[in-house]
Amino acid sequence: MDFGFSEEQAMIQELAADFAKKEIAPYVEQDEENHYYRREILTKMGELGLLGFNIPEEYGGNGLGWMESVTALYEIAKVHTSWRLSISGNIWGPALTILEHGTEEQKQKYIPGLCSGELVGSFAITEANSGSDVASMKMTAKDMGDHWLLNGSKMWISGGHTSDVGLVFAKTDPSAGSRGISCFIIDYNNTEGITRIPIEKKVGMWPAPTSELVFEDARIPKENLLGEENRGFQLCMWMLNNTRMGCATGAAALSAACLEGCIQYANERKQFGQPIGKFQMIQQQIAEMKMEDDAARYLVYRAAWLKENKLPSQRETSIAKLYSCNAAVHAANTAMKIYGSYGYSEEYPCGRWLRDAKQFETLEGTSNIHMTIVAGIELGYQPNR
Ligand SMILES: Cc1cc2nc3c(=O)[nH]c(=O)nc-3n(C[C@H](O)[C@H](O)[C@H](O)COP(=O)(O)OP(=O)(O)OC[C@H]3O[C@@H](n4cnc5c(N)ncnc54)[C@H](O)[C@@H]3O)c2cc1C
Repeated sequence: MDFGFSEEQAMIQELAADFAKKEIAPYVEQDEENHYYRREILTKMGELGLLGFNIPEEYGGNGLGWMESVTALYEIAKVHTSWRLSISGNIWGPALTILEHGTEEQKQKYIPGLCSGELVGSFAITEANSGSDVASMKMTAKDMGDHWLLNGSKMWISGGHTSDVGLVFAKTDPSAGSRGISCFIIDYNNTEGITRIPIEKKVGMWPAPTSELVFEDARIPKENLLGEENRGFQLCMWMLNNTRMGCATGAAALSAACLEGCIQYANERKQFGQPIGKFQMIQQQIAEMKMEDDAARYLVYRAAWLKENKLPSQRETSIAKLYSCNAAVHAANTAMKIYGSYGYSEEYPCGRWLRDAKQFETLEGTSNIHMTIVAGIELGYQPNR
């Protein structure tokens, strides 16, 4: 068992950390305040090869795998968690799913742009009345012979109104439950009948756009069906097992950011004539954060390693996501306490950490849903895929 980085991983870590420091850090507070999505960050990531993970070079990828992609995403999300969506929204969502389930034509048409940063990606499953219960979605896709006609709406879609290409799930056989769902590739810039509405007011993740999408007789070319008709539910679960790594890694990174901030603050802030870090109760808080932070990171790497080696990873991905999001919420909550009043001011990032940490308990499967996955596999009710 090797707990160290390979030479390649160490190089990627340095590259991503340097990128985050130079290209993301200077804008964090400004973009947070203005709720501003700085698309050029994603373009620059593409130019540097930071979006090419998990994709072979023939489709514009960098040929590197899960361990490297998690390493890069971790460094980026540590600086601003909103940017975890770059790799998961472009690569682990659309690009990887098209690579696994798409036709050769689809791969060549969409994957290179998603890797280069020329295209921004998204994926849309959730609807206003269909969240955890994916099979209850109402959006329909009707086979019109020479095209598909999509009607219905999607809610809470990351990058919904800023993406160029997205995967959208809809019912092709509304009477068949989970066996009647199909997946479509949507070219948002060239499709009529889609209204994209920004969700302006949300609790956190301010520089990461979130949207409602309304489809009214949107004509989708026949060749944009991804994978087999009515097999979209399986495809969706396969994709979520990858994109959930974005939440797991992002949450672990957020927990590390809180810990680093708290260590610095506890060494600087003095009360009763000494740094507050000298008080045992603060030390206990730091020790607990460090334990959880280490565990979260190792669980993320374990899930990445399983994926790298093409071994079943659904349970371990859920464990990594569940544990990391608990660690992030606990760390952000503790940071707020350690920073005292300053934690409650806008001068320090504690408010942002707490707002952003809470998202992880809901996105890409709520904590309850991940517990049912872990328990279901442990109890033998479902296999670990
Ligand atoms: C900022 C943001 C970005 C998002 N980005 C995307 C995106 O890019 N694409 C996309 O498709 N979706 C996206 N979502 C939606 C997100 O994935 C869903 O919100 C999530 O799946 C939960 O669905 P819900 O909110 O409808 O909650 P519900 O499913 O209504 O759940 C409500 C509560 O009931 C609990 N619950 C539900 N079912 C069970 C059960 N069987 N057992 C135990 N408890 C249960 C849940 O744990 C939760 O506590 C995003 C959401 C947010 C907030």
